[in-house]
Amino acid sequence: MSTIRYCKLRDTDVIISPKRLHRPTQFHTPTDHYELDECPFEAGSEDATPTEIYSIKDKNGDWITRVVPNLYNALDIHEENTSKREGFFTSKSTFGAHEVIIETPSHDKTADKYTLENWEAYLKTINHRVKDLSQDFRLKYIQVFKNHGSRAGATLRHPHSQIIATGFVPTEVKNELRRAKEYYKVHNRTLLLDITNEELSMGERVIYENNSFVAFTPFASLYPFEVIIAPKEQITTMDTLNQSGIHDLAQILKNVHKKLYATLGDFHYNMIFKNPPTAMEYYTFHIQIIPRIYMLAGFELASGMRINPVSPEVSAQKLKEVL
Ligand SMILES: [Zn+2]
Repeated sequence: MSTIRYCKLRDTDVIISPKRLHRPTQFHTPTDHYELDECPFEAGSEDATPTEIYSIKDKNGDWITRVVPNLYNALDIHEENTSKREGFFTSKSTFGAHEVIIETPSHDKTADKYTLENWEAYLKTINHRVKDLSQDFRLKYIQVFKNHGSRAGATLRHPHSQIIATGFVPTEVKNELRRAKEYYKVHNRTLLLDITNEELSMGERVIYENNSFVAFTPFASLYPFEVIIAPKEQITTMDTLNQSGIHDLAQILKNVHKKLYATLGDFHYNMIFKNPPTAMEYYTFHIQIIPRIYMLAGFELASGMRINPVSPEVSAQKLKEVL
């Protein structure tokens, strides 16, 4: 039985999801070999996934990107959005959405090989799904993310991202929004735009920029080669980008992925789309890329504080040098 339980000690929720245990895996650690003929995301294997929610097709009618419900979903849109007390404890139903974005029909195409058109289709697919899910007033928070490689939590090799939408705002997100709001109240500017402007004026950690976006390894990077892609001017949510904004974001994503792959090889990483739950003037949309080079250890788990063995200046230097 799936449930969302609230942890009083750590002020956070945990999704208890036994169904996730039975996900098939294309990875056999530690070498990450996988079986192509078992892949449910191939063109021609559309029957292997639940009914398609959305797709972008080319002029021949073949899909470029495809969105389907996650077969091993942690949350369920058909559940009622309820909570209950169990003695001293509280829990919620697993109401929410869990979707998979199949980014390309090409099983082995890593993100550094994506064309500008691939990236644009990917971003438009995300915007379409986020807009659609935001129409459901019961959903309070929509998170888009990509896990690539087993160290990043992926079980399938085929390029894909996921969307998880919940009926409440998770604690960590609430805290981040509160900090952003407090900063905005004092400065009348968003915290992220001020950080981005400071990184731009210092220059040392900026690895790439175009008209609308800049990519940098943040001053206090929590992870080696962590990259933030941020807009140069205020954008609250990604779906407010016009065509030229989408083009610029696709272009910087393409460039940053090429640089990361050229530096780290076929590395494992998470990519997180930082959109607020609703448009808020005090929050700026951005993307965070987290290479999963080192595992989190005891101190990090205990304190929430990271130990990063590669300085962001060294990471930036290496990423600037390639290509
Ligand atoms: Zn595949």
